[in-house]
Amino acid sequence: MTHRPSPPESLLADHVTQQFVPAPDLVQWARETFIEDSATLHNPEHQHLNHALIGALWTNVPNGRHGRIILAQCETGAPRAMGKWAKARAEVQIEQWFGGIPDFILTFDAGYAATCSDVEWCALVEHELLHAAQERDAFGAPKFSKSTGRPKFAIRGHDVEEFTSIVRRYGAEPAHAQAFIDAAKKGPEIGRASIAHACGVCLRQVA
Ligand SMILES: [Zn+2]
Repeated sequence: MTHRPSPPESLLADHVTQQFVPAPDLVQWARETFIEDSATLHNPEHQHLNHALIGALWTNVPNGRHGRIILAQCETGAPRAMGKWAKARAEVQIEQWFGGIPDFILTFDAGYAATCSDVEWCALVEHELLHAAQERDAFGAPKFSKSTGRPKFAIRGHDVEEFTSIVRRYGAEPAHAQAFIDAAKKGPEIGRASIAHACGVCLRQVA
């Protein structure tokens, strides 16, 4: 496993100013660790993400819902329906961060990322990647855009497939990387439920 990305010190030390900092190294790390065919902890479920533009952000802004802390979230890149100016403002900000509108934006709590274990970090990032899905038709076949040929992307909620993937990879059988195996030997530190309780997408769905 390549060295995992760290949030900037300036962000960790700042408890006053609300910050969002683009994390291209985090996306690069996620591709090299989970997405690409040669990835150290390759998961074929992320195949479509080879064709996705992904933007990632670190933040020091605390987030929570129903008394639970949100540590990460996956959203589509285009701002959702809002007033024309509000939407345009959000688009300008996103373009400044990423040089365009990505297919997905992943946001991570910097304080947690700086202190959690490798296994917790891998499980959290992969959990968010599993929300970054490709649309499927009524027969379960992946959908592609007729005009561009690119996959049609959408946010996926929890389903049996996702549950199985995370448990298989983090609950029981360790994968190849030595650091990962060493960490996994200590026992599953993070289960599907505990990740879901820390994820903004999942909390929105249970609410
Ligand atoms: Zn989730």
